[in-house]
Amino acid sequence: MSDGEQFELPMSQGKFEQIWMELGVGELIKELPRTNSDAWLSAALPDGPFTDGFDLDLPGTTDTTVPAPDVAPVVDNLPPPATVVPSISDYPGEYDFQLRFNQSSTTKSATSTYSQILNKLYCQLAKTCPVDVLVGREPPQGAMLRATAIYKKSEHVSEVVIRCPHHQSVAENNEGVSHRSHLIRVEGSQKIQYHEDPNTKRHSVTLPYESPQLGSVATTILLNFMCNSSCMGGMNRRPILTILTLETFDGQVLGRQCFEVRVCACPGRDRKTEEDNLKKTKGEVVTGSKRKRQTSDQLKEPVPAADLDFSKRIKNDDEEIYTLQVHGRKRFEMLKTINASLELMHMVPVADQEKYRQKRYDS
Ligand SMILES: [Zn+2]
Repeated sequence: MSDGEQFELPMSQGKFEQIWMELGVGELIKELPRTNSDAWLSAALPDGPFTDGFDLDLPGTTDTTVPAPDVAPVVDNLPPPATVVPSISDYPGEYDFQLRFNQSSTTKSATSTYSQILNKLYCQLAKTCPVDVLVGREPPQGAMLRATAIYKKSEHVSEVVIRCPHHQSVAENNEGVSHRSHLIRVEGSQKIQYHEDPNTKRHSVTLPYESPQLGSVATTILLNFMCNSSCMGGMNRRPILTILTLETFDGQVLGRQCFEVRVCACPGRDRKTEEDNLKKTKGEVVTGSKRKRQTSDQLKEPVPAADLDFSKRIKNDDEEIYTLQVHGRKRFEMLKTINASLELMHMVPVADQEKYRQKRYDS
């Protein structure tokens, strides 16, 4: 363990901050409108729910142990009154509600990737994140899926997760003014609804649950996260969780699954770094090199025709039989002769071999 630390020091917080600052600033510059340069700024002025002095005024908001009721009162078609802190406990329920992620790779080009060991989705800003929804049996007619984001740490959990003022105000990705402050969006459906809970002001997005298409076991939904985790005035480097619930048409929770999300420039790299850090803290050795194959392993593999290194064969246990594939009869006869000679040599005691040799030189 201590050997590994010498070579791979954990990335210092200072370094990280520096990198993200650089990336964040680059992005800001890129997304700034070319004309009306203060239009975006005025759009971010405090007439929305995203001002600094936003007051939640809710009792007991820091208590993370408050469980969400699985049965919510029916209030027409409005979203159910959210509990002060949404529950983050996984609950497959009687419909065996589960999520499955495309784990993809940790390559540089990956726009979204998922870590099983960290239960964490890494994705780029506004890029499509496919999430497969699985159920054990068909939920009731009119069932829907709801995605909500909350802060992971208890000191932040009372605060509503919203987009940063900058991203709320940039023209692109703001096709619907009503939900421009929502962090989570869903793509690919006309029946998507954006909600803001009247009591808690928490945001959520709902879409109707659809049965898997013929021949597939899961329904894929497409999530977008519309800010970076590092966005100032928004998530501001605070980790978030996404809660996906399966609900009846009137908002009764049938199942719940939760996962962490990091929105960043290099999802693959960050996943690898965090997984490696986890392994290190667990005391596992992280090496990319494969164990060197043993000679006996090599001998048990089929020997290529060109490989005429018989010494390897002799070195091995004499009892074992190997097959050699040879191209061409001539070559086969030649190798057969050599093999027969070796067999004979093996049968004749060393002392007698010397005698035969001597005899040949004499004659
Ligand atoms: Zn942002």
